[in-house]
Amino acid sequence: MKIWAIVQFAGMGLLTFSVPASAADEVVVYSARNEQLIRPLFEAYTRETGVKIRFITDKEGPLLVRLKAEGSSTPADMFITVDAGNLWLAAKEGVLAKVDSPVLMQNIPAHLRDPGQQWFGLSVRARTIVYHTGRVKPAELSTYEALGDPKWKGRLCLRTSKKVYNQSLVAMMIARQGETRTEEVVRRWVANLATDVFSSDDQVMEAILAGQCDAGIVNTYYYGRLVKKQPRAAIALFWPNQKTGGVHVNVSGAGITMHAKHKVAAQKLLEWLSSPSAQNLFADGNLEFPVNPTVAPAASVAAWGKFRQDQTNLAEAGRRQVQAVKLMDRAGYR
Ligand code: FE
Repeated sequence: MKIWAIVQFAGMGLLTFSVPASAADEVVVYSARNEQLIRPLFEAYTRETGVKIRFITDKEGPLLVRLKAEGSSTPADMFITVDAGNLWLAAKEGVLAKVDSPVLMQNIPAHLRDPGQQWFGLSVRARTIVYHTGRVKPAELSTYEALGDPKWKGRLCLRTSKKVYNQSLVAMMIARQGETRTEEVVRRWVANLATDVFSSDDQVMEAILAGQCDAGIVNTYYYGRLVKKQPRAAIALFWPNQKTGGVHVNVSGAGITMHAKHKVAAQKLLEWLSSPSAQNLFADGNLEFPVNPTVAPAASVAAWGKFRQDQTNLAEAGRRQVQAVKLMDRAGYR
């Protein structure tokens, strides 16, 4: 077996390395997912195929700026990030190419990939309700909207509206039920807040455990990490909207860059990432759900129970992002 090498480039400056003409068997990835999550995956791919993967990791904002600044001279073949809102933005900014792939079409449900075929979900996270098991009975919960009922006055904790996760949640609510109804719901949430909004999902759950509030909305993997550390924590997940639109889900995902130098190799990698052999590696490390419906989640994730997902295409999260941000601002959601 060939010796594989994975080189990580650090630093914020423009990346300037030359790609040898014969370097067909490699793929260069810009990833907003951290190294711990992607390195094992890339190492497995290299072992399986001999194709080398070079990657850098950074926040999605700087990576997108860099892709745009580098233009046609970018060394990046693939962009990986979280949240459909971010993927949609990358496509809108013109840095992603359309990919024709029956494999991706088959492995990834239609609502979790771009109808324009520029980005593809690779793992699923649900943004759902968490509650204190001592102070709330699951029967008291039903929908996201019902967290605006007066009985939750002073009992609700939320993360800041500045986070794309909440922008996507509200954007998808607008897509399903319109702007007027959504704004009313968000106003009611704000009226029920126990305290100022938090900067992280972890803080929302800490506040619930500390008795500051009784319920909140978080991404499932943060809940998974918390109960891994504190198995007896008095907090549980609830799957809302099971009789209506379904649970709001989002993805981490990827696209192939407009100016990829290894387009064919990058597409093969992307297809592999959606395949059964890679899906658990991709999802389990962050306690997410595989996007490929033929692949079972990790046991600890499956233990949260089955639920019905919102089937609205996640492109709406991007398309309505500005509308969602304005709506939340009007509704006083900081
Ligand atoms: Fe996150």
